[in-house]
This record gives sequence, C-alpha cells and structure tokens, in this order.
Amino acid sequence: MKTFMGGFPNHLYIHWPFCSSKCHFCDFVAFEQHEDYQEAYHKTLYKEIETFAQTFPLETRKPKTIFIGGGTPSLYPLDWMEQFFDLLKKECGMSLCQEVSMESNPADITEERLDAWDFFGITRLSMGVQCLNDDVLFKLGRRQRKKDVYNAIKIIPKYIDNLSIDLILGLPGVSVTEWKQMLKEVVSWPINHISIYFLMIHEKTPLYFKVERKQVSLLEDEKIVDLYDYTVDFLAQHGFEQYEISNFAKQGYTSLHNQAYWDRSPYKGFGVGSSSFDGKYRLKNDPNLENYLKSLQSHPFSAPFSSEEITKKQELLEVLMLGLRQKKGVDLHHVLYSLESDENKAFIQNLSSLIKSGFIEKNNQTIRLTRKGMALENEVIIRLV
Ligand code: SF4
Repeated sequence: MKTFMGGFPNHLYIHWPFCSSKCHFCDFVAFEQHEDYQEAYHKTLYKEIETFAQTFPLETRKPKTIFIGGGTPSLYPLDWMEQFFDLLKKECGMSLCQEVSMESNPADITEERLDAWDFFGITRLSMGVQCLNDDVLFKLGRRQRKKDVYNAIKIIPKYIDNLSIDLILGLPGVSVTEWKQMLKEVVSWPINHISIYFLMIHEKTPLYFKVERKQVSLLEDEKIVDLYDYTVDFLAQHGFEQYEISNFAKQGYTSLHNQAYWDRSPYKGFGVGSSSFDGKYRLKNDPNLENYLKSLQSHPFSAPFSSEEITKKQELLEVLMLGLRQKKGVDLHHVLYSLESDENKAFIQNLSSLIKSGFIEKNNQTIRLTRKGMALENEVIIRLV
C-alpha cells in the first residue's frame, strides 16, 4: 500500500514515550521505568524518520511544523537529542519550519536544557502544569511541584519566548475557588497560549479505580459547565481568545501544529503508537514497544503499523467532530451536500433539536458548538450524527 502519495507532509509528530512515573489519569502510550529501552528506541526512531524522509526528493521535504510529544520528551537525553535534531535538519528541512514545539514537564526545566533546546531549534514549549496544588499533584502521581512551575516560568523566557501551558479542569481536590485563583495567577505569567483539558477518567487507570471505589469525588457536570463558562470569559478578558474547545491564545499564537489536525491536513507521526494521516488513510504505528523496537532489525526498515482507508461517511464525521470543536465552525452546505437524502432529513432534525436546546448555534451557513455544547461535546456529537 502506497501512502503519502500527495508528497512529504507539512506536519511531523515525533513520540518520545518514556516517563519517569505514570500519572494516575494517563492512558497515553507512555512507559515508566524503561531506561534500558531508551537507547534502542532512539535508534529506531532515528531510522524510522530517516527511512521515511528518504523516500521523497530532498527538495520537497519542507514541513511547516514539527511537534515532539510524549511521554516526557523533556527527559530525552541531550546528546541523543542533538543527533536527532541534526537528522531533522539534514533530512527533513527543519530549518524551514514555522513552528517546532516540544512538550515538557516543569520539573525538567533547567537552564542547561533550555540552552540546548534553543540551540537545537525548538521555538515553542508546551508545559504540563495541570494545577498548582502540591497535594493534588502528589496524589495524581505527578512529578512536578508548584515550585518547579515557578522556577520554569522564571527561566524559560530567557531562551524560548513562545510558551504554552496545559491545565486540567475538574481534578479531584481542586476547588472552584482554587481554580479561579489559579487562572488569575497564570494570566500574569509570560505565556501566550493556554490549553484547558477536561479531566477524563480512562478505564483501568489508577484514578478510574479510585473513582469506582469512591475514594475521590469529582465535581458535578453542572459545576464543570459553569466553571468552563467562567474560564472562557476570564481568559478572553485577559487577552486569551478561544479558538478551539480546549485552546486559548494571544493574538498570533495559535498552535499551527494542532490546527493542522483539526483541519484534517496530512501529518506523519513517528514512534511507538503514533498516528498519521495522509489525506486518504489513517495509519497507526504498533503501540507495543517490543514490536516497534524489533523493526530496527528489519531490511528494508519498516515499522509495524495498521491502516484504515477513510470512507466518505467517516470523512464527514471527522469534518463534523473536528470542525465543531473550533470557533470557526463547520460549513453546513458542505455537510448537507455530502449526505444521502434520507440521512439529510435525520441530520436536520437532530441539528434543529440541538440548536433549540442551546448546544449548537447556526450563523448563516456555519454551525458551531455553543459554550454549553463545548462542555458536553461528546454527547452533542453523538446526538447530532
Ligand atoms: S507525564 Fe504525560 S504521558 Fe507521562 S504519564 Fe504523565 S500524563 Fe502520561
């Protein structure tokens, strides 16, 4: 099967899956205490990127964004990272990129690392703050503490001036007052982007079992909706405009890489469990670490992956799901044009009922989620389609 027939993708995602410990809410492809695997992983990742890049003529390899996520890529050893960025510059046209982002944990931020990351060409840091309550952080198995965040905020701007932070809304132990206090504090920091994620309770995570055993209690849905509403207004008053359900930016600082996902632009993911989209197929690398590492021995090199061709119906569903999340919304004409006539009728009925209940708004031919709809996004999309 030939993929990426449209050429070298504009967006690259690179996965460093190792964490020093696993957070209690996390269901990402991330591994704790796997130090012995890291060198082999680095070599496999290197080979995967090199092999993919070399299937395209050098002069066509001009990505717009690169995103290094995890896991905890801020723990990627600097000497390996240097080799890896040399590869991105030599084989993937990294110097032409508009945005090179990396995720980081506040506990890993040191002047030595920042100096190196800046030298390698990282232009944007995304830092997982989550909350500023040390007791809550401890109980969630997070490694950083409030003092690490304050230290990071102080030294990052000396090296990298494009900084985003992540917060989680609805963490057990963070009261409404505390959340509001935290927002007040973060808007005074030298940051230009904030991602606010709703706490998700993923099955079989330690937090899921604690919730099941009623060892922790969560905020009720109505309180979350109110708090989200408050947050969107508060951030707007302080210069952070919402452009997607979870994302708020000062003018000129939206995340170009994430925007590509929501706009269904082709992107290539490298590393264990990473996803790719070439415009026609959704591809997924094997999430099993051993299987991924074994591919280093394959000749010619090939990382194991699964693929799915996107049907017209799935495409429409994606357009709706990804488009409704964004402030700019979805073109209703496009949706109706893509549906069969019987589906068309059902869709219009569902849409009218969701507009009436205040979950979706329609402006000329553009539909988008309202605030209330955003806070209950999954249910709204299910009801719509
Ligand atoms: S640091 Fe991130 S990837 Fe690692 S366990 Fe925590 S939430 Fe998951």
